[in-house]
Amino acid sequence: MKELSCSEMGIDCPFHAEGETADEVKAKLLEHAAAVHADMLAGMTDEQKAEMMATMDEKIAAH
Ligand SMILES: [Zn+2]
Repeated sequence: MKELSCSEMGIDCPFHAEGETADEVKAKLLEHAAAVHADMLAGMTDEQKAEMMATMDEKIAAH
C-alpha cells in the first residue's frame, strides 16, 4: 500500500491518498488538488509542477 498526504507536501490540509501503486496515489492526490487546491496549482509554473511531481515520487517511495 502506497500513501501520500497533502500535509507531507507542505499543504495545510487533512487529505490523505492511498493506492496500490505510486501512480494511483499520485492520480488521487492530483485529482484532489485540482478540485480543492486549484488556486495553488494555477499559481504554479510548469517547472514548479514538475518539481512537485518529483517530490511526490520521493515522498511516496519513502513510506
Ligand atoms: Zn488537500
